[in-house]
Amino acid sequence: MSAHTLLNKVIEITRNHNRWRRFECINLIASENVMSPLAEAAYFTDMMHRYAEGKPGKRYYQGNIYTDQIELLVMELMSNLLQVEYVEPRPISGTIANAVVFRNLANPGDKALIAPVQAGAHVSHTRFGTLGALGIEQVELPFDMERWNIDVDKAVKMIEEVKPKFVTLGASVYMFPHPTKEIAEAAHAVGAKVVHDVAHVLGLITGKRWPNPVHEGADVATSSTHKTFPGPQGGLIFTNDKALYKAVAKTVFPWFVSNHHLHRLPAMAITAIEMMEFGEAYADQIVRNARAFAEALAEEGFKIPTEHLGFTQSHTFVVDVRELGGGAKAAKLLEDANIILNKNLLPWDPPEAVKNPSGLRIGVQEMTRFGMKESDFKELAKFFREVLIEGKDPAEIKKKVIEFRKNFLEVKYGYDIPEEFQDSLLKVPMLL
Ligand SMILES: *Cc1c(COP(=O)(O)O)cnc(C)c1O
Repeated sequence: MSAHTLLNKVIEITRNHNRWRRFECINLIASENVMSPLAEAAYFTDMMHRYAEGKPGKRYYQGNIYTDQIELLVMELMSNLLQVEYVEPRPISGTIANAVVFRNLANPGDKALIAPVQAGAHVSHTRFGTLGALGIEQVELPFDMERWNIDVDKAVKMIEEVKPKFVTLGASVYMFPHPTKEIAEAAHAVGAKVVHDVAHVLGLITGKRWPNPVHEGADVATSSTHKTFPGPQGGLIFTNDKALYKAVAKTVFPWFVSNHHLHRLPAMAITAIEMMEFGEAYADQIVRNARAFAEALAEEGFKIPTEHLGFTQSHTFVVDVRELGGGAKAAKLLEDANIILNKNLLPWDPPEAVKNPSGLRIGVQEMTRFGMKESDFKELAKFFREVLIEGKDPAEIKKKVIEFRKNFLEVKYGYDIPEEFQDSLLKVPMLL
């Protein structure tokens, strides 16, 4: 193939992706979101090509006059939004943020207690992921299936017995806040630290619809910056513990990050300013939409295992689709109808069920950002029924989904590119 043909191929694949995911699908992946047009524009800058090893003001490279300024601004904005003393924005993902903190709190061979895997702990908390890579031993906290949360009494006993170096809370299927206060009291009594991973709910915390674990006794929080918080893909660590912050800052670089992907920083700052202005309205609508959607699906005949608990307090919930052929089949049929979500283990599934687990995981944060309200999610629930319960041809429903999506193409709760910046050095990336 000639270079020209190859280039055309690349452009075509990229365009196909952009058109499909951005204009024709309903995206319900609970860990995704989109930036505002202004934040996207600010992502596409010369900073994507630069290095800035070390801390602002103490870099190992020249050329960082402005990247120092923007990094300090991100730290200040996030520290204000989260009402905490110390913010470390350099981890390039939530997984890296976890690696940094875990390595600071334990040595290989030490023990950590983690929220149960089948109940939604992230792979990075487990022996299969980052924890395992660091040689830290995993012990799972007991889970209360009825309350869909950590069993506090049993967990306290386990903390006293195991005396771990640290306990992780937080999950990737996170409907109800984990009991930070109770766990922190028990952990601190045996000299253990509490790490609360808020990757999924950071935007709900900045929007004041979810407790900030650092205010409830967690020693440190780790996060991604692109799930309910609609920033660029990246990681974050925050804490009020000065000694821990200093230790963390020393291990981000040189242990886990060299280049910290500087082009995230202006986009992150813009997203933080957006969340200062629109964050509460956004988080409020997310929580309303999640509940309305779960309720509508239940009315259409779907099983929502947390119905007795009021469905959810976050952006996300799960559907039990065992009787509809399992999660793998259901997720594929929905994809054929341009409804994008993922299959998910539910607490009773054995680990080997990952290929066809009982559940579907749903998140409403991205479609909320595109302006969907409670009544729109009721409409969406009908498409689910047509595809999964009535067995209609997904190709037919796909046509309806594409029409439906046309009502929700503009990003809300964020900034457009103002006139004054349009002919500036900020270039819009979605040009393809
Ligand atoms: C998504 C997620 C992470 C990892 O984040 P990445 O930014 O994808 O590395 C960590 N913890 C939890 C609970 C998550 O859901």
